[in-house]
Amino acid sequence: AVREGYERFDPRAYLQNNYVPPRADFSSEECVVPWKLRCLAETFASGEIHGRTLIDVGSGPTIYQLLSACDHFEEIVATDFLAVNREELRRWARGEPGAFDWSPFIQHVCKIEGRGLRGRLRRILPIDVHRAEPLGAPLRPPADALLSAFCLEAVSPDLAAFGRALAHVGSLLRPGGHALLLGALGESFYLAGAARLPVVPLSPADVRGALSDAGFVLRD
Ligand code: SAH
Repeated sequence: AVREGYERFDPRAYLQNNYVPPRADFSSEECVVPWKLRCLAETFASGEIHGRTLIDVGSGPTIYQLLSACDHFEEIVATDFLAVNREELRRWARGEPGAFDWSPFIQHVCKIEGRGLRGRLRRILPIDVHRAEPLGAPLRPPADALLSAFCLEAVSPDLAAFGRALAHVGSLLRPGGHALLLGALGESFYLAGAARLPVVPLSPADVRGALSDAGFVLRD
C-alpha cells in the first residue's frame, strides 16, 4: 500500500507544498524550514562529523538537507526510491533550466556558512530501505555518515517496519560512523500532489527503541 501511494508522488507538487512560502518561511526561526537548516548547520559546525562519503537516504527531490554537510565530505551520495525524484535531483545537479530554485535555501545557509554542493554530489542512486541491501549491493567504501530527512517514517507501514528500515540503512555506514535523522514525530500523513502518503506516527520512545535495537548509540 505504501509503495502504491508513492506511484502517485509528484515531485513538483511536493516541492510546492513543502519548500516554497508559506511553508518555506525564512522570516521566523521557529518555522520548520529554518529549523531544519539550523539543526543541520549546528550539527556539522561541531566538526565531529566528517569523512570521505556521506550518503543521504530518501533524498526525494530536495537538496536543502545537504547544504551544511557538503563542506565536510569529499563525496555525497543522494538516493531515492523514485526515478522521478532522482531526475529532479539530476536537473538541479546539472544546473538545467526548469530545475527547482533552491537559491533562497542556499542564501539562508550561506548566511550561516557558505560553499558549493554541486561539485561534491557525485552519485544519485536508487534505494529501497525495505530491503536488507538497500542499494542492491554494499556501498564501497561504506559511508562515514548517513543522513535521512523525513523518509523512514514516511515509507514504513508500522513501527516494526521503521525499525527494520533503520537497521537496513545502518548497514551502509562504517562501524563508528554517524547517522543524522531528521523527521516528524506523531505525524500521520503528508501530501505530494494527488498522493496522500501515510506516515507511521512515532513517539520519542519509539525512536529511541528502534535506534538501540538497530545497534545505534544515541548521542543527541
Ligand atoms: N528527504 C526529502 C524527501 C522526504 S519524502 C525531504 O526532506 O523533503 C520521502 C521520500 O522517501 C520520497 O522521496 C520517496 O520517494 C522516498 N521513498 C519512498 N519509498 C522508499 C523506500 N522504500 N526506500 C527509500 N526511500 C523511499
